Amino acid sequence: TDRLKGKRALVTAAGQGIGRASALAMAREGAHVLATDVNAAALESLGAEGIETRVLNVRDPASIAAAVEGAGAVDVLFNCAGFVASGTILDCDEDQWAFSLDLNMTAMYRMCRAFLPGMLERGGGSIINMASVVSSQIAAPNRFVYGATKAGVIGLTKGIAADFITRGIRCNAICPGTVESPSLEDRLRATGDYEAARRAFIARQPIGRIGRAEEIAALVVYLASDESAYTTGVAHVIDGGWSNI
Ligand code: NAD
Repeated sequence: TDRLKGKRALVTAAGQGIGRASALAMAREGAHVLATDVNAAALESLGAEGIETRVLNVRDPASIAAAVEGAGAVDVLFNCAGFVASGTILDCDEDQWAFSLDLNMTAMYRMCRAFLPGMLERGGGSIINMASVVSSQIAAPNRFVYGATKAGVIGLTKGIAADFITRGIRCNAICPGTVESPSLEDRLRATGDYEAARRAFIARQPIGRIGRAEEIAALVVYLASDESAYTTGVAHVIDGGWSNI
């Protein structure tokens, strides 16, 4: 219960899903966690568990600047915010393209750029960026702009890892397969046939089930901790066998 003792960790999109599970898991391991989300209501239950919360819209540079000002330096930055847009390239108009790029990629560039100087001052840090196995790893049908942006996340992660490896900074990406979350439920319902869609999503994973947010949070804790001191610039796949067997 003290694998992250003494570390300050900031999580984006901590209101629900993987971000929330990761904020709770890091707090359980002794980190001082700053849980942030654009949705203040979603943060309330974390506040009730004694976790520091703050409204942060990663699409808004002023909101990020205020978070740096208010939070100060952190040792761990988990950039979890992202949106799963559905459809092919023909469904993706300029507005949808711009929205997904801004939320999934540009916001991560902004967050890393804002929090890196504080990490460098402290002599090190671990940045964890949420990608997906649907990225440069594999494609999935109807995930055109999503996969493009998550491939970009892996690229920006490797670039940061390369540039700051000698200065104590590690930067890794996480590439989950399908994981239970409120937005996954929305996506299943949006297909019009919830049960068939769930069966199809389960069938993609050779392991025969969908992942749990807590299982991804365990990887986040590992990458946040000094146990992972020898890993940087890696896209860590955690997908129930979807892409590798
Ligand atoms: P989710 O999609 O259910 O929740 C997303 C959270 O992001 C919400 O709390 C929302 O308020 C917040 N958010 C939205 N816009 C924001 C903004 N501008 N600023 C700050 N917060 C914002 O959660 P999830 O499914 O666990 O997904 C979290 C991340 O994991 C995403 O980047 C997603 O692409 C990635 N991912 C999810 C899965 C999956 O199957 N669930 C698989 C691979 C990767």
